[in-house]
Amino acid sequence: MAETTIDPVCGMSVDPATAPSAEVDGTTYYFCAPGCRKAFMADPSAYLGGGHEHGGHHGHGGHDHGHGGHHH
Ligand SMILES: [Zn+2]
Repeated sequence: MAETTIDPVCGMSVDPATAPSAEVDGTTYYFCAPGCRKAFMADPSAYLGGGHEHGGHHGHGGHDHGHGGHHH
């Protein structure tokens, strides 16, 4: 099987050979669909979770943007 990677937006396995990609800080990410890529590029840190784990919800200090629905 081809190698797959994980779409950081929705968590799906995607095939880097065919998936839309985006490079952020020298790292390339792949997405299941252009819509996921677009969402990621709008706010990469929301999906990368650099530093804070999503496992136990223990108080977001400071930033309070919801992960569920962005209202524009
Ligand atoms: Zn996706």
